[in-house]
Amino acid sequence: MEISKFIRIALTRTSSLFYFKKRSKVIFYHDIDSGKKYTDMSTSIELFKKHINILRERGYEIVDEIKQPFGQIEICFDDGFLGLYDNIDLIIELNIPIHLFVVFSYLEKENHINKEQLLLLNRLRLIKISSHTETHQVLNLASESLLKNELKNSKNLLEGLLENSVDSICYPEGKFNNRVVELAKKVGYIKQYSSLPGFYFNEFLPNVKRRSLVQFAGEKEFKAILKGGDHVLFFWYKFKHYKK
Ligand SMILES: [Zn+2]
Repeated sequence: MEISKFIRIALTRTSSLFYFKKRSKVIFYHDIDSGKKYTDMSTSIELFKKHINILRERGYEIVDEIKQPFGQIEICFDDGFLGLYDNIDLIIELNIPIHLFVVFSYLEKENHINKEQLLLLNRLRLIKISSHTETHQVLNLASESLLKNELKNSKNLLEGLLENSVDSICYPEGKFNNRVVELAKKVGYIKQYSSLPGFYFNEFLPNVKRRSLVQFAGEKEFKAILKGGDHVLFFWYKFKHYKK
């Protein structure tokens, strides 16, 4: 069951009227499309540019790591689709840091960034690469050994490939539970990114960050999400994504 788009946007916009401060937030996408669409979750290049313009007009600083409670935005991309690589010149031109979460086994998969391309991206100052597990298993349903493998292997394999440390993870389909959080921490992930909407410093659990999905948000919805309007949907997302 999904909340209808109309209701979701109406709720988000109405609730945004109750927020007045520009509190720092993580927003996320799946891909950018400038003619070739590698996934249905892709954001058109026009809409993506519009979002960046809005962020700049409103005086937000787009950063690789949020350090201030107000005025900073971190941008994530999940899954490692090829459109981000195709449009890397735009990222460089806009000079925006991107936190890219890749699924290690997808580096061999059609429509996804491959290992060679990932190494090129990794050399760019603007791109930080983190784990989105090894095979995109839904972690709260995984057995103990599968969960361990997904968390550990992806970290080790990525670190081996990139020759740098990998200290963040985001959950496939946003789904997780306390077992996932504890084990990820034990494996060495310092930050875990959920898909629960919220402000950066308002952690869901220690080191579990909130993020807002903005890939299809039109101008008005995007502005409302920045203010925190989508937090009204928090309990709905929590219900869908998190079981203790
Ligand atoms: Zn994913």
